[in-house]
Amino acid sequence: MAENGLIADLVLRGGRVHVLDAEDTRATAVAVTDGRIVAVGADTDMTPLIGVGTEVVELDGRALLPGINDAHLHASWLGALWPQTVFGGPQLPADGPLSTTREQRREALLRAAEVMSSLGITSYTEPGIGTGEDDGPTGCFGSEVLEIYRELADEGALRQRVTLLLLFGLLDGAASTTDVLDGIAAADTATADPRSLRIAGLKVFADGIPPMRSAYIHGTYVDGSHGELLLDGADDRERERRLHEIVLAAQRAGLQIAVHATGDRAIDVFVQAVGAAQDEHPADLRHYLVHADLLRDETIPALVRQGMGATLQAGIAAFTAEWAGSAFADDDGPAMWPLEHLVRAGAPFTLSSDAPVMAPDWRAELAAADRLLGAASDPVARLHELLRRITAVPAWQDHAEDWKGTVEVGKVADLVVLSEDPDEVGAQGLPGILIERTYLGGAVVYDAATAPVAN
Ligand SMILES: [Zn+2]
Repeated sequence: MAENGLIADLVLRGGRVHVLDAEDTRATAVAVTDGRIVAVGADTDMTPLIGVGTEVVELDGRALLPGINDAHLHASWLGALWPQTVFGGPQLPADGPLSTTREQRREALLRAAEVMSSLGITSYTEPGIGTGEDDGPTGCFGSEVLEIYRELADEGALRQRVTLLLLFGLLDGAASTTDVLDGIAAADTATADPRSLRIAGLKVFADGIPPMRSAYIHGTYVDGSHGELLLDGADDRERERRLHEIVLAAQRAGLQIAVHATGDRAIDVFVQAVGAAQDEHPADLRHYLVHADLLRDETIPALVRQGMGATLQAGIAAFTAEWAGSAFADDDGPAMWPLEHLVRAGAPFTLSSDAPVMAPDWRAELAAADRLLGAASDPVARLHELLRRITAVPAWQDHAEDWKGTVEVGKVADLVVLSEDPDEVGAQGLPGILIERTYLGGAVVYDAATAPVAN
């Protein structure tokens, strides 16, 4: 359905359009005007919208998806490292900062944006930029990067919609509670166009990772230790109280808080802290877990009840499972990466790359997630479940489900054209599909035919 007399700027037809709404609607054609989707349906539905000025793209059976939203991707770091990644590529550079000048940091963001466009990514969350990293070891996460983001947004030079989380401690390191509370109090989240650059809240590192025995856990590692929270405090109880204080302060300030928590105990402390903060000051802020490696089944109902999200990385799970297992005594290791339980509980979790830890390639991520889920359900239903984790669900995480994340009328025309229909090849076949074209707000930001970038 479209307004009478409306002529579209762009019509894409003859394709397999995966709307990825809750009803899992399929269509063959989409019309776009002024950067927004104005019609979705059959090819014939588009005929009245085609005028002399309309660009008509014949998809010839290619697939069309909403633009990909990577809910956890360090673009500033990715651009400085690419084509290397932490767990891939030949070798990490020697110690020392990756970026030292403003020009290098700007270049890194632009390079990452180009890589992402070539992979169909039209939105991402930059998880942790701020004063806590002004003297950080990589040079990639300090407050100058936020200035550059603002500058690129003002220039209209961003090629993805960016959700940014502020950081008041070290990335993957310790934070002083005072610094975090001061940072929350002083946070300036205003931006000129929140649909281009939005500062959603903050990132906090609660603990480390299971393979390093630095995840904060209920049980013990093979050496008898149990990890600890990365906040200051004399003992576990005091550090747990600090995390509660930080979550409550974020809640009162209306800031979304994403907490790196991999150990089951770190996860439980955060989930309890959100419950307490919600009781004191109810607000729909969609706080979420990052990584959640050792999330216990019994914690999932509270996560769902409290309107929380989580972002998981199946690719990292596959890469580190054995290593993580070695941290625990035989037969004593906790269950890891409960994707199946999260799906069954209806938890709004997203899948993300954590690039440059892994390459920012959603095709590999979904194939890895599919292997974690096992083959219990119908393969196409499972595939669509996974596709929603990188489109519609992260849009919810961004409080943006009204205007992005699916191919529906009224939403921004962030779209990706694929060489083949994912339904035909299944999740395991996704890595063989090519990204042919990426649209951001109806404008082509990547076209494999004219600007081939290895993906
Ligand atoms: Zn990360």
